[in-house]
Amino acid sequence: MDAADTPVPHHETPVLGNPDLPPEGEANTVDHPRSTVMTGPRNPVIESQFPNQIDPPRTDISTQAFFWSSFNISPRRVQQGGWAREITKQDFAISDEIAGVNMYLEAGGIRELHWHQTAEWAVMTRGKCRVTTISRNGVPSVEDVEEGDLWFFPAGTPHSLQGLGPDGAEFVLAFDDGDQSESNTLLLTDWFAHTPPDVLAKNFGVAQEVFRDIPLHNLWIFSGDEPGDLAADQAAAGVEWGSAEPIIFRLSRSTPLHKNSGGSIQIADSTNFPLSNTVAAALVTVEPGSMRELHWHPNADEWQYYLRGSARMTVFNTGPHANTTDFRAGDVGVVKKNFGHYIENTGDDVLQFLEVFKTDRYEEISLANWLSHVPPSLVTAHLNIDEATLATFPRGAQGITPLR
Ligand code: MN
Ligand code: MN
Repeated sequence: MDAADTPVPHHETPVLGNPDLPPEGEANTVDHPRSTVMTGPRNPVIESQFPNQIDPPRTDISTQAFFWSSFNISPRRVQQGGWAREITKQDFAISDEIAGVNMYLEAGGIRELHWHQTAEWAVMTRGKCRVTTISRNGVPSVEDVEEGDLWFFPAGTPHSLQGLGPDGAEFVLAFDDGDQSESNTLLLTDWFAHTPPDVLAKNFGVAQEVFRDIPLHNLWIFSGDEPGDLAADQAAAGVEWGSAEPIIFRLSRSTPLHKNSGGSIQIADSTNFPLSNTVAAALVTVEPGSMRELHWHPNADEWQYYLRGSARMTVFNTGPHANTTDFRAGDVGVVKKNFGHYIENTGDDVLQFLEVFKTDRYEEISLANWLSHVPPSLVTAHLNIDEATLATFPRGAQGITPLR
């Protein structure tokens, strides 16, 4: 065995590598650079979007289920009035707790009256939308939703959405079931078209001829007139002020769970938005140079939607497995329950993303909080860090690392 084959003891390695055998990771190829050559075919345009996938941090090890997807590459179902595209478990196998939909409705455009077997959580990303629903107790609601607001409809709750002027509405839905699809919903027009006319007549106490002109194919999304005054619509729908449990939550205006010079985390779950009992969410804002700290979630998978900026995330799994990839606006990520992760702002602009969970309560375990609440001697015995240095670590959960 010559010197080049002698393993370097881990604590003497100047740059972190993988201490496990068999050797894995680029750290082991220092004397064998040709091992890392990629001979092609290659696509430089795609590669340019994934610097951490193409040239991973030396600490990455092995592989795991792909945790990146994107609405940017999802096919759009377009109709007069708007469009939708989705990422379901069928497209993105790891995402079995949440299915995502990105939808646009022009001003006046209507997502037809419908319901489904799963709950619907949504956040408005551009524009304004009028939302109607009726609760399981029969209490109606008509509300206008603006950018940064979210709504929640429990499973089976009927609803409609309509884009408002001047620019309509774009938003992202999360269903609490990875198999749910926006093309797999119970539609008002389908039910009418597939119920015997004499039954419709008997149900509504009118002549069968009333239903002569109903559409035989569903509408799904269609163009409509811009709705008028909200108060007038509420009165026409029989909404009484204060009678309904709120279906809307102003997420972007809520008090942050964490806030410092590095950014903020705002939460919407059943503790501050009682109706939302199967979906919890966090709106995360990270300044350039800062990072969503190392943490995990003990109670649900995390479904991410990137609103702006650019990021990299490493997911740490048993094995060990650790893999890093890059995220940009319109991308979707999934981190399975209990897997460690951080999300670092890799750009010069603010990074903003949503974390959505199929649970009633937002929960996280912060690595820094954990390590500051065990006897220091225990931590120093693991990490070969002296106690004086350990004492400078953060004394609790920060959510976002503050700027230095
Ligand atoms: Mn719906
Ligand atoms: Mn997380």
